[in-house]
Amino acid sequence: MKTLKIEELSKNFGSTEVLRKINLEIDEGNFLVLLGPSGCGKSTLLNIIAGLETINEGNVYIDDYNVSKVEPKDRNIAMVFQSYALYPSMNVRENMIFGLKQAKVSKEKIEEQLEKVSKFLQVDALLERKPSQLSGGQRQRVAIGRALVREPRIFLFDEPLSNLDAKLRVEMRREIKKLHQQLKTTVVYVTHDQTEAMSLGTKIAIMNHGVIQQNESPENIYNKPSNTFVADFIGSPSMNLIKGNLKQSSDRILFTAEGANFDIPINSYDFDDTSQLNNKEIYFGIRPEHIYFKKSNENDFEVNLKADLSEYIGHEQIITFNLANQELLAKFSSTIKIELNKETKLYFDLTQVSMFDANSQERI
Ligand code: ADP
Ligand code: MG
Repeated sequence: MKTLKIEELSKNFGSTEVLRKINLEIDEGNFLVLLGPSGCGKSTLLNIIAGLETINEGNVYIDDYNVSKVEPKDRNIAMVFQSYALYPSMNVRENMIFGLKQAKVSKEKIEEQLEKVSKFLQVDALLERKPSQLSGGQRQRVAIGRALVREPRIFLFDEPLSNLDAKLRVEMRREIKKLHQQLKTTVVYVTHDQTEAMSLGTKIAIMNHGVIQQNESPENIYNKPSNTFVADFIGSPSMNLIKGNLKQSSDRILFTAEGANFDIPINSYDFDDTSQLNNKEIYFGIRPEHIYFKKSNENDFEVNLKADLSEYIGHEQIITFNLANQELLAKFSSTIKIELNKETKLYFDLTQVSMFDANSQERI
């Protein structure tokens, strides 16, 4: 039994198609992150799960029960919004128990839940304050508390940290992670922030233009992106995508970047299908962190490239090299000295590369 299942779901606003044939499943206790650029349909999908938005095609199941036409209040779901949506005229106590009162839960049970959750979230000293008398982080806690007291089957979060400053965002991210570790609740969490997605999700569903591009563990998303969109979206700086061609003979496969005078042997790469690779136009993908200054593995590929640009970012530096007039970014520790406009010996870690068909943009 899946805690949440979304089947062939499509949604349009008038003539604008916002979600296209979405299929998703979440097991009990998992933390699913919906990650994608602004406007890709994340909030719409979350609102559909909550029952706040109608469906054009497809179905939503909770515990195998089709809830597509069930009222939001009867779905046993709680949502935490980006804006927190606290009632400004109510104090913290009233905000937190509002939903329980609406649901006609007994006074004793309400008090019990309020005490437990407010202690847990460390807002028990703030119960008499109005939202305007709270810091951003405290408001966020109260918004989470209001969801927690209801002990819902599924928690929905819509960009809950995006209104906080950078430092607080990282702190609250850790708190949400701890909360999930302790309570083991099922969560669907929307964000456009890849670091948030990576650190929180047990699974990440990457969306673009209303279509799920890949839905896998953070490790698989990072190591084996299924297309160039995912490869480019995850990682900072993004994966280098070098255009070129494959040459296949009976005993080996080579990659030649457009205009380059060297071949990269890629015999260890795990191609989905090794037929018809000869002359295939592809993108050779390598992350900046997988280009080394010192040889680290037996099969690292050595190449001499000229450094054009250096960006110092504290603990690291990002160097832009020229690979036959294509930009290649590498990330090194700041302690390494790289001279600009001079050839530098670099090592490509060929165990960490990805290849994509240049036409379909899909992983090969
Ligand atoms: P995200 O949360 O990923 O930023 P949304 O789900 O909010 O994206 O929006 C997806 C697309 O649907 C956007 O192009 C947005 O303008 C459009 N949209 C969202 N809600 C409505 C609405 N109520 N009416 C018309 N268009 C909408
Ligand atoms: Mg949104």
